[in-house]
Amino acid sequence: MPTISFDGQEITFEPGQTIIEAAMASDLYIPHLCWHPDFPPHGSCKLCSVKVNGRICSACTFPAAEGQEVVSSSEEVRQLRLRLTQMLFVEGNHFCPSCEKSGQCELQAMGYYLGMTDNHYPHFFPVRDIDASHPHVLLDRDRCIFCELCVRASRADGKNVFELAGRGIHTRLVVDSPSGKLGDSNLDVNDRAAHICPVGAIVVKETAFRIPIGQRKYDRRTIAEVSVAEEAPLLRKRYEQKED
Ligand code: SF4
Repeated sequence: MPTISFDGQEITFEPGQTIIEAAMASDLYIPHLCWHPDFPPHGSCKLCSVKVNGRICSACTFPAAEGQEVVSSSEEVRQLRLRLTQMLFVEGNHFCPSCEKSGQCELQAMGYYLGMTDNHYPHFFPVRDIDASHPHVLLDRDRCIFCELCVRASRADGKNVFELAGRGIHTRLVVDSPSGKLGDSNLDVNDRAAHICPVGAIVVKETAFRIPIGQRKYDRRTIAEVSVAEEAPLLRKRYEQKED
């Protein structure tokens, strides 16, 4: 098996794997928000930035290659990820204390993981449409980080309910339905797309604040621990299925 050096540790990889896949398959966490082992990489959040042979690259799209030296846990890389996370916070309206996703939110958990203590940048305070038209699913666009996970999940659901439209600061999540409303789309509450959002932008109604503080996903475990426990097995399963 070919190998790369990951933070000084030699790990093997399968030809065709990206750096994040090689690391996660070895239970080594690389921070990420838009990457998910079940979907093609999107490469937008850049949280998985690592140094490969001295150059910053996105680990979710950069292929692993024999002899690479990958640095993921240096202070320089942590600072880069911290600034990117702060940008995501100020670009949307992420008011954790009042958000029903608090304690279960990957962006919030990422902030804790990276030691974020302030937003650093001025807030944008965007005003984007909230869509409460669906009987079971709420879409709060102000909390969207444009990771496209719902887009990819809905594509995999065979429905294509979601898409990103516009550019830069005007980017918006749009819904494929005659009125553009979620209630007119064919999204079902059991669709994967209704449950994949890493933040509080797509939430299932009537489930808010049900889990007590102390028992929520990230109350006792870091995002790194949760990711290695939940996502690394999904990745290994995917490769096992490929071999079968
Ligand atoms: S709604 Fe959620 S899953 Fe969809 S793009 Fe926005 S943050 Fe990502």
